[in-house]
Amino acid sequence: MTPQSIIDLLSMLSDEPLLVTDHQCVLKFANASAYRLFGQHIDSQPLNHFIRHPDFQLAVRQVARDRQISEMIYVRPSLPSQEYKIRCLPFGEEDVLLAFSDLTQDNMNEKIRTDFIANVSHELRSPLTAIVGFIETLMDGAAQDPEAVERFLPIMRDEAARMQRLITELLALSRIEGDEIRPPMTPVPILNAVRQAISAFEYRADEKGCAIELVSSLPEEYSPIVRAEHDALVQVFHNLMENAINYGYANHPIYVRLNFSEPLTAQARPSNIRISIVNSGDGILPEHIGRVTERFYRVDKSRSRQLGGSGLGLAIVKHVAMRHGGELGITSTLGKGSRFTLNFPLSRIMEHVPQDQAQSQA
Ligand code: ADP
Repeated sequence: MTPQSIIDLLSMLSDEPLLVTDHQCVLKFANASAYRLFGQHIDSQPLNHFIRHPDFQLAVRQVARDRQISEMIYVRPSLPSQEYKIRCLPFGEEDVLLAFSDLTQDNMNEKIRTDFIANVSHELRSPLTAIVGFIETLMDGAAQDPEAVERFLPIMRDEAARMQRLITELLALSRIEGDEIRPPMTPVPILNAVRQAISAFEYRADEKGCAIELVSSLPEEYSPIVRAEHDALVQVFHNLMENAINYGYANHPIYVRLNFSEPLTAQARPSNIRISIVNSGDGILPEHIGRVTERFYRVDKSRSRQLGGSGLGLAIVKHVAMRHGGELGITSTLGKGSRFTLNFPLSRIMEHVPQDQAQSQA
């Protein structure tokens, strides 16, 4: 086997860049991804012409001399910077094979993981600190003061409830993320899930003077069916309606609009159903819109906390939508309000048999 055919074979097994140099560190072979990374001009060039790192050259020479495998980390000064682990292996009589593996994605995943742990700890720490503070105050004598007890206990309960909500949402998110690769298969009449969520929030909306109005452009005799997990769908509508109430103006209606992606005709069925939750309100600045579905991202942290928010609601919505093969779209106009639109692929559209007709048929 020639060195080039070995490189070709290795390239078929991996997309990562591969280089072969002679013992003087002059390039002899490169695969397609190495050319993509360093450019087409590298043929027969000394390594230090395109990898400007003094230790690197030394390490390669050492492998050429000692015929021992070695590893090193190479940070490529690009924007954003890319980090590679490079394995240097003796190749043939006196050449060296350099196999790159890109650590950039691993590093990003690690950062997401550590940020997540920091966020969770931070979110749990503040209610816990408050609860511990109140317990100590009560133990220091305030327990004998009925007025203080009456004032502290509801705060302690609310703080504990905040932790409980956060943990419930974290568990929901982790379950949804774990299930992402298994699409749900149960046929669910999506209107039922929407109506269930509306009934759950009618009272709270009413308290703020906001009626929740269902505006449907679907023909009444049809029931759209999606392949879904019913409870996850209800949860998604819950989260969106809760936000519409929390961040919307008082005394303004909240609209839940339903329509098909294309008109329903005798010849053609629409492919998707769209459900939009629309509220009047201050709206969201464009630079925040792309980020509000990130875990723990809030436009106004203290406002969200005051409203009992965990910062996980929209992350859950996004993941559930993805798991159902759907999408979440967000549009907002400052000073006017926001619209959150879910788009789900339709499994089928069932024709209702009206109640009285069904009875007379029976
Ligand atoms: P939270 O628990 O903070 O409500 P979410 O993930 O549900 O967390 O939402 C993230 C952020 O997006 C909120 O903190 C808020 O800043 C913004 N947001 C969500 N829904 C709306 C809305 N209907 N109108 C304006 N801002 C919203």
